[in-house]
Amino acid sequence: MALIVQKYGGTSVGSLARIQTVAQKIKTFKEGGAQLVVSVSAMSGETSRMIKLAKEIQDVPSLREMDVLLTTGEQVTIALLSMALQQLGCDAISYTGAQVQIITDSKHGKARIKSIDGHRIRSRLDEGKVVVVAGFQGIDEFGHITTLGRGGSDTTAVALAAALNADECQIYTDVDGVYTTDPNIEPKARKMRSVSYEEMLEMASLGSKVLQIRSVEFASKYQVPLRVLSSMIDKPIGTLITREENIMEQAIISGITHNKDEAKLSLIGVPDKPGIAYKILSPISEANIEVDMIVQSVSAREGLTNFAFTVHRNDFNKAQAILQSTCKKLSAIAVQSDDKVVKVSLVGIGMRSHAGIATQMFGALDKENINIQMIATSEIKISVVIDEKYLELAVRSLHNAFGLDKE
Ligand code: ASP
Ligand code: MG
Repeated sequence: MALIVQKYGGTSVGSLARIQTVAQKIKTFKEGGAQLVVSVSAMSGETSRMIKLAKEIQDVPSLREMDVLLTTGEQVTIALLSMALQQLGCDAISYTGAQVQIITDSKHGKARIKSIDGHRIRSRLDEGKVVVVAGFQGIDEFGHITTLGRGGSDTTAVALAAALNADECQIYTDVDGVYTTDPNIEPKARKMRSVSYEEMLEMASLGSKVLQIRSVEFASKYQVPLRVLSSMIDKPIGTLITREENIMEQAIISGITHNKDEAKLSLIGVPDKPGIAYKILSPISEANIEVDMIVQSVSAREGLTNFAFTVHRNDFNKAQAILQSTCKKLSAIAVQSDDKVVKVSLVGIGMRSHAGIATQMFGALDKENINIQMIATSEIKISVVIDEKYLELAVRSLHNAFGLDKE
């Protein structure tokens, strides 16, 4: 018999009526002949509501107590869902993370799963029960309750699937899959039938709206077939995230992502000598600012070079101030900064075996007269930084140029 792990998100269990609908779906699925482990989130809005409560009572809430608080959200939904299943005549039992030994490290609020004891779950499955496990939570080796970070129920589901060697992990959510690009920008965006783990990780900005990226890392590591599908429609197919070898018709380009949170900083006219990149970037990383793209140009004039990088817009002011002082220290000519830029990326494993993809991309942007300010490439991704006013145009013209609107 197939063993399937299903996860239902906050919206899918957002009301009693929805919980009953989910229970009915689970019952029907089980009657189709599968063993089922179900992991759920808290009812939508609950986790955020509790975070607010905590902040009203303690300026900087204790991380340990925060985890004790937040895990109650999932404890409510596992019990209610099990009751709803029992009411339908479907035998079910609920467990918290601690009860099934979801052992994590001790980093409250962003713990990582170390191991899961599948014994208890297996015994209940063998008794014919649906096993309902609280998402997002675990316990550390000292018995403290932990949580896995916002959206962490996805990771619970994948970890359960890995530990139980399940045939598939299905993430039921309020969207029906992963799209070739943001449908709000390009209405012709198409739902992908399948995508590789690697591409999905590179498409974090598209994917993270659908599932916690850490769950994809986990799925990739343990080779768990992961399916994202809608809990709102009947017989959904969704998008399968799987091994590259399992993908039937591999497109050259799978998707186009964008990131609006970029800001660009450049140091103009720095002496071109050893240690410059280090001297520019170390104060930035010491301030805990993450740097994304980095470009150093070939010496423009005798002995001088330009050095540019991007940071998250939230860090823009801080990074700018740091760079001003670096500019003085290194006797560079000037700091130039721009927080009105975005990053647009083309992702696809087909790039590895097809030459000229970058050229084709730049050609499509040129046709629209869009100036490329920075370029970065990896084996399966090409990213450009452009003026934010061209975001929509760039996404649409690339989507069109690579035929992503066609099946
Ligand atoms: N309830 C948690 C959150 O809202 C975990 C989850 O839903 O995945 O982040
Ligand atoms: Mg979620």
